[in-house]
Amino acid sequence: MNIILFGPPGAGKGTQSKYIAKKIDGIQISTGDILRDEITKNTDIGKIISNDMNEGKFVSDEIVNMLVKKIIFDPHEKNNFIFDGYPRSLSQAQYLDAMLKNSNQRINFIFSLNVSKEIIIKRIEKRKSIEKRSDDELNTIIARYNTYIKTTKPVIDFYSKNSNFYEIDGALGINEITSKIDTFINV
Ligand code: AMP
Repeated sequence: MNIILFGPPGAGKGTQSKYIAKKIDGIQISTGDILRDEITKNTDIGKIISNDMNEGKFVSDEIVNMLVKKIIFDPHEKNNFIFDGYPRSLSQAQYLDAMLKNSNQRINFIFSLNVSKEIIIKRIEKRKSIEKRSDDELNTIIARYNTYIKTTKPVIDFYSKNSNFYEIDGALGINEITSKIDTFINV
């Protein structure tokens, strides 16, 4: 089973993806985590992408597609993928489509967690007051939110025509979102 999860930064995508991965014994493909890992390891890719990522800008489709392709075609993987943060542009969506077709797979469910900018800001500020983080993070999150709306909205519109596309209110609590996802994938 392959699942795509959409949602702006702070929507709880990562938490839900981890839950689903455990439930279906699948692999969470978080492109954000994969890219951060490249930066931490200071690889050639890490050096190219670190400025853009720090500014909340998207990494090029070419780099992201290449990293995802490596996982999808890894013969050791189980073909049970939860895409978390990918695809984020129409060109990535088309690339993913072609890759899945080539390996006789399809997307079974597409979930979009909808959260307003106001709620995201409230959540980050609450976290900041608890964890005493700097203001930089709030600005980066707002930049990432704006990029998400601008670039990923067309991708969601593209998938929303599919009968396996479901919108979920991301303002709900973690457990409520989880049980909604459960209801859909248990059918
Ligand atoms: P995330 O952890 O999913 O919020 O991603 C963190 C950052 O990684 C984003 O702000 C982008 O800079 C980069 N990134 C993650 N996934 C993608 C993607 N599919 N395409 C382009 N950039 C991405």
